[in-house]
Amino acid sequence: MSKNVIVVGGGLAGLTAANFAAKAGAEVTLFEKSHLIGGRATTTEKHGIQFNLGPHALYRSGQAYKILRELGVEITGGIPKVGGTVAVNEGRKHTLPGTPLSLLTTSLFGVVAKLEAARLLKSLPKIDAAKFNHLTVREWLDAEIRSAELRQFMQAFFRLGTYANDPERQSAGLALAQFQMALKSSVLYPDGGWQVLVNGLRAKAELAGVNIVAESRVVKVQVQAGKANGVQLADGSERFADAVIIAASPTEAAELVESKSLGELAAKAIPVKAACLDIALERLPQPQTTFALGIDRPLYLSVHSAAAKLAPEGKAVIHLLKYLGSEAPDDSKAVEHELEELLDLVQPGWQRVLIERRFMPSLTVVNALATAEQEGLLGRFGPAVPGIEGLFVAGDWVGAEGWLADASAASGKRAAELAIQYRAR
Ligand SMILES: Cc1cc2nc3c(=O)[nH]c(=O)nc-3n(C[C@H](O)[C@H](O)[C@H](O)COP(=O)(O)OP(=O)(O)OC[C@H]3O[C@@H](n4cnc5c(N)ncnc54)[C@H](O)[C@@H]3O)c2cc1C
Repeated sequence: MSKNVIVVGGGLAGLTAANFAAKAGAEVTLFEKSHLIGGRATTTEKHGIQFNLGPHALYRSGQAYKILRELGVEITGGIPKVGGTVAVNEGRKHTLPGTPLSLLTTSLFGVVAKLEAARLLKSLPKIDAAKFNHLTVREWLDAEIRSAELRQFMQAFFRLGTYANDPERQSAGLALAQFQMALKSSVLYPDGGWQVLVNGLRAKAELAGVNIVAESRVVKVQVQAGKANGVQLADGSERFADAVIIAASPTEAAELVESKSLGELAAKAIPVKAACLDIALERLPQPQTTFALGIDRPLYLSVHSAAAKLAPEGKAVIHLLKYLGSEAPDDSKAVEHELEELLDLVQPGWQRVLIERRFMPSLTVVNALATAEQEGLLGRFGPAVPGIEGLFVAGDWVGAEGWLADASAASGKRAAELAIQYRAR
């Protein structure tokens, strides 16, 4: 029995799917339209400085890390430190409460909010987050927290954990689950940037026999008698397959094949967007301050080189981000300026030691918000595409498991398993 599997897309989801399908004995070809493999997990190198595409952190107890280790991809890196963290509220710096002591001493809250925060931070790790899947973040905050200051603070942490700035629609269950995961085992900033994950997955895939073809756009998934049986490439050529896994965005997937359910999903998916300012400095003007979180404004700053090897000794890589919600900003210059102001506050004098900067006004962090209406991750699409046998999808918008890259990896693995099972029938 032949088992040809075609994977469309060479990001983390596609590379994961290709690995698992090949390990199970399939002949796998992966087509990537770009000349680069890695999608949003690529890292750009300039002057020995590694820039991820905006800030990227790997959840240490998440699916991506687990699957990478299962495949034997080695990752070294560092865990960002709690010390030296700043909360920015109304343009002023405060200690970011992350430990009982910092909660006691911070000037961010008054006494009443501090007492409520202490109780909340003690109870949060134990609650069953899934019970709140059907509530929005706003509904949960309003129901569970009396102090307005603390509600704002928790909202900032939910943004940090999910990248979403959409409290009126986002599922509270997912936001809480991400928060619990961060509390439990934090995140890792990989040495060398996320390209290391991509390169590791690629090397393992090629070792397992996967044929990776870059600069090759798939323009159509071919379907005959309700079964996917191959793809057509932009050069007009056709490739046969027993099963096809599309590991691209919902819009791109819907363009490749006629599927009512995919089309509907693509039309209603709410993207999670962010503006990013990536900065490289000769040295840090304030070496003690390595992290800042906006409380009243949806802003983030982290010195990733303080935890991971991303630049030559002494030099610094800082990622700044504004959580945008689902819309690109009307005035991207104003957003860039807002991020520069945060940098002025946290690392004054940074312009004098600037090596490199890159501003990206609107990146898609996740293709589809997990809403309360769809009960968080439970209502997510795929990996099997209803109505078309042998067609599967993978990505950060697919399946009931994981968020961000964790969803890409989990759905990539699951899509491969389903593709293999489908052929085995
Ligand atoms: C600013 C930012 C910050 C982030 N931070 C984090 C973080 O801290 N932690 C975390 O876990 N995740 C984070 N993410 C999310 C993470 O990067 C993504 O979830 C993950 O990389 C997505 O992988 P993917 O394979 O699902 O999709 P993609 O990386 O988008 O890959 C899809 C690939 O398919 C290719 N493709 C599309 N159509 C076709 C076609 N027709 N033919 C051939 N190829 C095609 C594309 O070129 C692309 O390479 C962040 C993302 C951004 C943008």
